[in-house]
Amino acid sequence: MSREEAAARLAEVRTRIDAAARLSGRRGDAVELVAVSKTHPAEAIVPLIEAGQRSFGENRVQEAQGKWPALKASHPDLRLHLVGQLQSNKAAEAVALFDVIHSVDRPSLIAALGKAMAASGRRPDCFLQVNIGDEPQKGGCAIADLPALLAAARAAGLPVAGLMCVPPDGIEAAPFFAMLQKLARDHALPALSMGMSGDYETAIMLGATVVRVGTALFGSRG
Ligand SMILES: *Cc1c(COP(=O)(O)O)cnc(C)c1O
Repeated sequence: MSREEAAARLAEVRTRIDAAARLSGRRGDAVELVAVSKTHPAEAIVPLIEAGQRSFGENRVQEAQGKWPALKASHPDLRLHLVGQLQSNKAAEAVALFDVIHSVDRPSLIAALGKAMAASGRRPDCFLQVNIGDEPQKGGCAIADLPALLAAARAAGLPVAGLMCVPPDGIEAAPFFAMLQKLARDHALPALSMGMSGDYETAIMLGATVVRVGTALFGSRG
């Protein structure tokens, strides 16, 4: 991807974010755009950094460890988000590398993250992931388990920013976004991580404060 192409794609997504944010009575710059760079090499990421993008997302700790230490060293103001499922035995590595973790979804992981944060002094912002479509193959806690999970995260000292979801494929996402918004409101949580390339404008109109966009910025993952 050339620098011009990266800048054009970024401008297009930001324009759509601004429009959706205005419709929901907010400013576009109140919505954090996370560019999900999973599977894409550093050469594809650098043009977006040069176009001004600062927040990036990965879904695997090991893949991120191969790409991001060097990029972060040359651009210390980058914010790196873990958007994929996290195994408890990778918690320390995730805490060391990421600035935001979107996939906190069970007590064993909360315990591992709490220990890793205490040991390292690093405290990445955390989102509790909710399995909003009740799909067996997906990460996230059951809606009924959210109150206990939130209490456990707070007791372990995790900085809980808000809630995250990945709605079911192939059906309208808006009702699921609305459910997540209601859960966040019920628990007085300010941040909502929801919306991907196909539905980020809908998510923003339903209150998303963080959108996770891959394909619309990088092209298809092949
Ligand atoms: C890959 C991924 C995205 C980005 O998906 P696109 O459809 O390419 O925008 C967002 N969130 C999560 C959790 C992902 O794994």
